Amino acid sequence: MFDADIGIIGIGTMGSMAMWQLAKSGASIIGFEQFGTGHDRSAAGGETRIFRTAYPSGLEYIPLLKEAKNLWLQLEFETGNDLYTQTDGLAIGDQNSISLTNMIESIHTFQLDHEILSFDDAKKRFPQHKLLPNQIAILDKHAGFLRPQYAIVSAVQRAEELGAMVYRQTRVEEINSDKNGVCVKANGREYKFGQVLITTGPWASTLLPYFNKLIEVRRLINTWFVPKDLQLFSPDTFPVFQREGNHVYYYGIPSVDGATVKISRSTTTNDRMIDPDSLNRTIELEELASIKQLVQDHLPDLYPDPVRVSAYMEGYTPDHHAIVGRLPDDSNIMVACGFSGHGFKMAPAIGKLAADILLKNASTYSIDHLSPNRFIAVN
Ligand SMILES: Cc1cc2nc3c(=O)[nH]c(=O)nc-3n(C[C@H](O)[C@H](O)[C@H](O)COP(=O)(O)OP(=O)(O)OC[C@H]3O[C@@H](n4cnc5c(N)ncnc54)[C@H](O)[C@@H]3O)c2cc1C
Repeated sequence: MFDADIGIIGIGTMGSMAMWQLAKSGASIIGFEQFGTGHDRSAAGGETRIFRTAYPSGLEYIPLLKEAKNLWLQLEFETGNDLYTQTDGLAIGDQNSISLTNMIESIHTFQLDHEILSFDDAKKRFPQHKLLPNQIAILDKHAGFLRPQYAIVSAVQRAEELGAMVYRQTRVEEINSDKNGVCVKANGREYKFGQVLITTGPWASTLLPYFNKLIEVRRLINTWFVPKDLQLFSPDTFPVFQREGNHVYYYGIPSVDGATVKISRSTTTNDRMIDPDSLNRTIELEELASIKQLVQDHLPDLYPDPVRVSAYMEGYTPDHHAIVGRLPDDSNIMVACGFSGHGFKMAPAIGKLAADILLKNASTYSIDHLSPNRFIAVN
């Protein structure tokens, strides 16, 4: 006798979206979350996440992102909550860079609405950015920002309305699987499921120790700056952006609080950490030097001292594509983890994929680039 058809371990970004999609399909589900829903101790904190459609990481992502956009709007419709703000999105860089070349390929292949702005055009339209002479900008017309913690709480709230159950402040300690199903130990109790979805983000290797070799946990810092003129950085004047400068990737999101603008650098292997249970949430002054310099050099209408800083973490795979699918050596267990710093935008589409795989053993489009089989030997 099962406690539910499907157990979901980790109700963060991917777990909440899978739970919503599974609940919509009528499956019986129990979710386990070690903290509260919408907490900021892992990959989803920091107020905002960029959504964009023209993508540098592979053409396979475009169908996924188009579906994600529809599902974000669907979640807004079902909950009445304002989760996504359209701002358009700028990608600034050398016109011959790999990243911009890949984005242009995705734009042409999928006929995505866009504009390519020369150095002079970009300077005129977006004077907030100080471009370097060889740089151009691509304006993606299907881009904006999401509110991550609000989105997670909204998806969980909707899933619960549809009958799903969530155990909060409940850490799963162990899972054991055999041909009859999967046994989950938490809170001194055992729960039995037909199938289990593991969406534990940076904690992937806690329950699946061999994921230790596949998922590198990195600490990521977010930083917020005060504008000299707020009008220049509102959602209708300042599109979300990403840019490379001095070999550092960084990105920005317009002001959502009417006082500050989030400008943050992307991570590198230097941000590697050992144990997700000991995330250092204190930020040292020297950790802020590179982002302060970038703001000073490239965004002169912001004061270069950050007024707010915070630290989060994320799991990175060796090829920076996530691991999504049934485990080759145990088909009752599915994983969706290792989103490598770019998973939030696609989260509801991943939730839908997980529901389709768990309930129908099918997916609407190819996700071979995310298959666990690329790292784990098939028996
Ligand atoms: C600072 C930062 C900025 C980012 N910016 C962007 C962006 O602009 N755009 C974008 O698309 N992506 C962005 N990303 C990436 C994106 O946020 C992540 O890819 C995504 O949130 C990962 O989701 P997840 O479900 O794997 O992990 P999480 O959201 O962390 O969820 C994992 C959950 O599992 C729970 N858990 C773990 N172990 C257990 C257990 N044993 N029992 C019970 N619960 C457990 C955790 O508490 C957590 O709630 C960013 C990430 C960071 C950190």
